[in-house]
Amino acid sequence: MSKIIPNKLKLYDSLSRKKQVFEPINSPNVGIYVCGPTVYGDAHLGHARPGIAFDIVFRYLKHLGYKVRYVRNITDVGHLENDADHGEDKIAKKARLEELEPMEIAQNYSDRYMDNMDALNVQRPSIQPRASGHIIEQMEMVTKILDKGYAYESNGSVYFDVKKYNEKHNYGKLSGRNLDDALESTRKLDGQDEKRESVDFAIWKSASPEHIMRWNSPWGSGFPGWHMECSAMSAKYLGNKFDIHGGGMDLKFPHHESEIAQSVAANSCEPAKYWMHNNMVTIDGQKMGKSLNNFITLDQFFSGNHDFLDHAYAPMTIRFFILQAHYRSTVDFSNEALQAAEKGFDKLMKAALTLNELKAGDTSTFDVAAWKDKCYAAMDDDFNSPVLLAHLFDSVKAINSIKAAKMSITASDLELLKLVFNIFVFEILGFKADKNDSSNSNMSGELIDMLLQMRQDAKNNKDWATSDKIRNQLTELGVTIKDTKDGAEWEL
Ligand code: ZN
Repeated sequence: MSKIIPNKLKLYDSLSRKKQVFEPINSPNVGIYVCGPTVYGDAHLGHARPGIAFDIVFRYLKHLGYKVRYVRNITDVGHLENDADHGEDKIAKKARLEELEPMEIAQNYSDRYMDNMDALNVQRPSIQPRASGHIIEQMEMVTKILDKGYAYESNGSVYFDVKKYNEKHNYGKLSGRNLDDALESTRKLDGQDEKRESVDFAIWKSASPEHIMRWNSPWGSGFPGWHMECSAMSAKYLGNKFDIHGGGMDLKFPHHESEIAQSVAANSCEPAKYWMHNNMVTIDGQKMGKSLNNFITLDQFFSGNHDFLDHAYAPMTIRFFILQAHYRSTVDFSNEALQAAEKGFDKLMKAALTLNELKAGDTSTFDVAAWKDKCYAAMDDDFNSPVLLAHLFDSVKAINSIKAAKMSITASDLELLKLVFNIFVFEILGFKADKNDSSNSNMSGELIDMLLQMRQDAKNNKDWATSDKIRNQLTELGVTIKDTKDGAEWEL
C-alpha cells in the first residue's frame, strides 16, 4: 500500500484540552518523548497501559509515512519515594533491601521490563536514555535556569522558584491547578526549610551522607531532581521543541507541569507541541495497590500465578483487552472481562486464517473500500482503537459469511480486504497470531501444517500408530485438530 501522509489525523492535546489536527513541526520527521518506568520493581498493568498506548501512536505514525524518533527514558536515579523532593531514592532503597548495587537493581528491572514489553509486542523505542547517563546535561540545564533567575541555591540543593516563574508564566496550565490556591492550602514553611515556598521543587538535590548515588556538581555532591531528567534528555535527542510528549495521567502533576516550567525557564519555549496522556487501570473497580492484594505483575498475568487470577492470560489477551478501550478511558480488569477478550482475540485470529482460504466470486456483497475508510477514520480520530476493533469485527462477520457462501467477494476486493485487514490487525494494532509466544508466529503455524501433512502421509500409508502419535502430541501442545474431507484443520 502506498504510504501517503494524509492531513486527517487529530489527536487530543491535554494542554489545550481539545482535539487538534496533527501537524508536525518538521514533517515528515516526528519526535515523541514518553516518560518511561522507574526501574525498581516488576512491571505491572500500570506499565502495560502506556507501553501499548504509545506503541499504537508510534506504529500508526510510521504506517502513515512519518519518520518517527521515539524516545522513552528509563529512570534509574532521582525518583524519590512518594514522588516528593525529599526522602529515599526508590532504586537506592531497593538496593539496600536486596543488598545489591543500585545499578544492578536498575539493570535487572529494566531487562525484565523490556522482556515484558517484548511479550506484549510493544516495539522498542528509537532511543532509551537513562537518567544516570545524562547527569552532565541535567547540570547544564540547572545552570541555565539559575542564570535566568528562575531558581535559587540553598544548602547545596537548587530549587525552582515557582512564584517567580508564575509572575510571567502559568505554573498549573497543564494540570489545571491554581498556584494561589496551592499557596493558600499548603502548610506555611517555618523558616527552617531549605525552600522559600512549599510549591518550589528541587532541580538538584544535595546528597545526605548515606545517599549512594551522587555526583559532584558546582553546588556540592548530589543528584538531579526527578523532573529534570525528562527535560534534559528530551531536549538532547529531540530538540528544545518537539512534537508529542506522552505519559500516564498521573504524571501531569507535578512531573509534566514542572517539565514545562523548566523548559520555559531554560529555553524560553514549551517543550512539546502536543501533550498526550493515557488513563489508568483498575482491577475489579479498585485502584491497584500492594495493600489491596490486587497488585498483579505482568509475569503473574502470563503465568496465572496470583490468587486473583482464574488462570494464565496470554500477552496478546492483555494487549487486546487494553486496546478494547480508548487510551483516554479507564480500563477495569476482571477475570470475566479478560476471558471475553480471550474469545474476541481468538475470533479475530481465526478470521485472519479463514481470510487466506476465501475464494473470489463474480460480485462483492461487502463494501471493502468503504470499510477501509472507516478503519482509517477510527485511527485518525485520536487513535480510537475500540472503534477500529468494531470495524474489524464487521469484516470478521463478512469473512465468515463469504466462507459459508452467504456473501461473495470479487478477486480485487478480496486482495484489498486481505491487505487492509493484515495492516490493521498485525502492523498497526500489533497483534501476533501466536498469543503466548514472542517468537516468530508464522513459523509455528507452518510447523503445525508440516506435522499435519506428515500425519496425512502416515494415514495414506495406513500407519495408524504414527498418525495417532502426531495427533496426540499436537493435542497435548494445545492444538485442536478437526479432520475434514480434504485433510485436517487446526486451531490453537
Ligand atoms: Zn518524565
